[in-house]
Amino acid sequence: MWFDSNLENASMSVRVRYAPSPTGLQHIGSVRTALFNYFFAKSQKGQFLLRVEDTDQERSTSDALDDLYATLEWLGVSYDEGPGKDGGCGPYVQSEREHLYKEKATELVNAGKAYPCFCTSERLDALREEQKGKKGSTFGYDRHCRDLDPAEAQKRIAAGEPYVIRLKVPMEGKTEFNDILLGKTGRKNKDINPDPVMLKTDGFPTYHLANVVDDHMMGITHIMRAQEWIPSGPLHVLLYEAFGWEPPTYCHLPMVMGKDGQKLSKRHGSTAVRDFRQAGYLPEALMNYVSLLGWSFDDSREFFSKEELCELFSLEKINTSPAVFDYKKLDWFNGQYIRRKDPEELKALLLPLLAQDGIVTNPPTENELAIFDGAFPIIRERLKLLNDVSPMLRFLFQDPGTGNVEDAIPKKMDAVGTVATLEAGIALLEQAPSAPEVTDEEACARWDEERDAQFRSRAEDGEWKIGAMLQPLRLAVTASKVSPPLFPAIRLLGLEEAIRRAKRLVEALSSL
Ligand code: GLU
Ligand code: ZN
Repeated sequence: MWFDSNLENASMSVRVRYAPSPTGLQHIGSVRTALFNYFFAKSQKGQFLLRVEDTDQERSTSDALDDLYATLEWLGVSYDEGPGKDGGCGPYVQSEREHLYKEKATELVNAGKAYPCFCTSERLDALREEQKGKKGSTFGYDRHCRDLDPAEAQKRIAAGEPYVIRLKVPMEGKTEFNDILLGKTGRKNKDINPDPVMLKTDGFPTYHLANVVDDHMMGITHIMRAQEWIPSGPLHVLLYEAFGWEPPTYCHLPMVMGKDGQKLSKRHGSTAVRDFRQAGYLPEALMNYVSLLGWSFDDSREFFSKEELCELFSLEKINTSPAVFDYKKLDWFNGQYIRRKDPEELKALLLPLLAQDGIVTNPPTENELAIFDGAFPIIRERLKLLNDVSPMLRFLFQDPGTGNVEDAIPKKMDAVGTVATLEAGIALLEQAPSAPEVTDEEACARWDEERDAQFRSRAEDGEWKIGAMLQPLRLAVTASKVSPPLFPAIRLLGLEEAIRRAKRLVEALSSL
């Protein structure tokens, strides 16, 4: 079914666009749209355009625009044409193209495909009031001005009467379009919004006019966008027809849902790319995960670099069913990408976070660097998010105090029992040989294993669960819920200081 589009005779070079409206932070779902367009363009050796759809001046903000550029840059997605990169179809910001929309709307009026409407807002309000409660609740214009005599209309315009321009939607027949993924979809013309506004009183275009005019003028071959735009499809096709233009190929992308099957929203977790970035996700991990939201290469392969996606992406492999955004899976990807990252590059990402959290100085001292380097191999294996680095390593640079003493008491135990396990642990640490140099990895691993074995056998003797010995000691040493494994943590901190902190917790527990 899918392939009756003009994709096959791809003699025409592919040109696709990402056309966001800068009204808020870049949403992960929108970025999925951007990436699919980008990957498709690259895989076809075509062009990827960025077009800023800011005709809704009230809702567009410069912060949102900054966020758009920052997001694309962070992801390493560059456009072939767009703001600041003219490819002959510019400007690429709709608010800079207003004269064009006005010109095109006038062309439609002159061709009898659109008409000026002089209805006042009072009249439309009254109409809206009248329609309230009648079948369907959406407002429909009553086509009052559709048959005004054009000469008469010209006179009223010349006299300065305010007007909008409305498209003459045919009252009979059906308008269909072919979607690469979904096949034929369409609607009876009588069910299409009766004569929607194309140009507003202030001369600004509506989304529909600007979108269609630009896609045509910019030579867009494929429109890949979210499925929520499907209802606009027939209207857009009517607009192309009114202009006498060939519509591009449509490819509406599957929705991105939360686990509960509802459209992904803040209720499910972060949705703004900026928030993921600030939380310590790597762009390559996010890109890889997002590329799998509605696309797959085969049934098994999960890892793809940007370069691979630019080569392997194909429309045939896009699913039609909704994609589910799985935050845990994204975390897993991020951890994987952290471990795949070049160690020096990873260090260069982590150190600024430690400095930002006031854990090391900026720039770090030699001593701080040495401590960090010692801990690096251990945390590298454990980080899920870059930002985990501060809670994980704070204990090495600062005395964290005892934290919340109650947290030291394992389930089903009391303070007295906890003191007993801690004292047993302290006794073992006091007899332990001093820790080897961090650079001697084998010796370090052996040291850790020996401690582990001793603690296990001591727990057996005391008839405790091993956790009853480790949990309070971990709290004493790190006072953090995210920490490296206990024995490496003790080794890195130094036995003496670890014992001091453990004794301090014993005291605090004893005075509870
Ligand atoms: N400006 C629209 C948006 O914000 C573009 C929709 C389209 O791709 O046609 O999603
Ligand atoms: Zn009217």
